[in-house]
Amino acid sequence: MDFNDSKEQAEFRAECRSWLEQNAELKTAAPKDKREGMVGEEAFLDSAKEWQRKKFDAGWAMLHWPKEYGGIAASAIERIIWGQEESKFSVPRGIYEIGLGMAGPVMMQYASEEQKARYLPPMAEGKEIWCQLFSEPSAGSDVAGLRSKAVQDGDKWIVNGQKVWTSGAQFCDYGILVVRHDANLDKHKGLTFFFVDMKSPGITVKPIKQITGQSGSGSGFNDVRIPDTQRLGNEGDGWKVSLTTLMNERLAVGDPAGLDFDEIFEITRDLEVMENL
Ligand SMILES: Cc1cc2nc3c(=O)[nH]c(=O)nc-3n(C[C@H](O)[C@H](O)[C@H](O)COP(=O)(O)OP(=O)(O)OC[C@H]3O[C@@H](n4cnc5c(N)ncnc54)[C@H](O)[C@@H]3O)c2cc1C
Repeated sequence: MDFNDSKEQAEFRAECRSWLEQNAELKTAAPKDKREGMVGEEAFLDSAKEWQRKKFDAGWAMLHWPKEYGGIAASAIERIIWGQEESKFSVPRGIYEIGLGMAGPVMMQYASEEQKARYLPPMAEGKEIWCQLFSEPSAGSDVAGLRSKAVQDGDKWIVNGQKVWTSGAQFCDYGILVVRHDANLDKHKGLTFFFVDMKSPGITVKPIKQITGQSGSGSGFNDVRIPDTQRLGNEGDGWKVSLTTLMNERLAVGDPAGLDFDEIFEITRDLEVMENL
């Protein structure tokens, strides 16, 4: 198998590279650059928003999205090429992975036309940031075992429960959420999927201190009211919609530059293991 770029891919790579060279600085010390850009820092957030808007204005923000939502309908391999090239530059990346890579595609598949017109452009431009509310304290690998509950009340659902590891919850505007609407059904069948305004009354975001020094977040739901119009898929389709999200995640997250042993050694060299975490 030939892993080298085809002629067209090489041309696309050169185009990406040329724009990046004109608009960003090449990394000089990769490990340090990456760790300086810790998600959650105010300055990082501002610079990430600015970088996303710059890419949006130039048409690079969401190349894998369809043209009607402002993308260029790039192929999966072109998306990887862009990611590989961008990862060589010192730019704030990461906080849009969940929105553009997971929430966006799921909204495209399940939201109404009106909702797509409202939510997709600000997501792409980086004005609104999205998070993923799947994991729970006792439902990580076994996410279908989650216990957060949604009870229908007229045209709304009332949600109670606890989510963990909600990356970026402390600064996100919206989230995609899977919850249990019927505890009597088989676990994969009793789930329903929504999107939620993270500023909704009843949502509490708390930091989780990690061994890396970075901050993760947990999100508590206490009688949070979500309009039925924000249900993505039918009642009971939560597992199906979650799988759509997770399939998109495979291309959305991770380091496109690939394994970097120098970086791993650099991180372990000055890692402080804290007591009383
Ligand atoms: C940096 C980071 C960011 C994250 N961001 C998000 C996010 O934005 N949104 C979100 O919803 N979640 C997020 N997660 C959560 C992540 O998806 C979960 O951590 C993951 O699903 C694993 O769950 P867990 O940590 O509870 O581990 P567990 O499920 O408790 O697993 C612990 C270990 O046991 C093993 N194990 C589990 N079950 C079995 C089994 N049946 N047989 C054999 N071995 C088993 C696992 O492989 C693992 O090694 C994030 C996690 C991290 C670390």
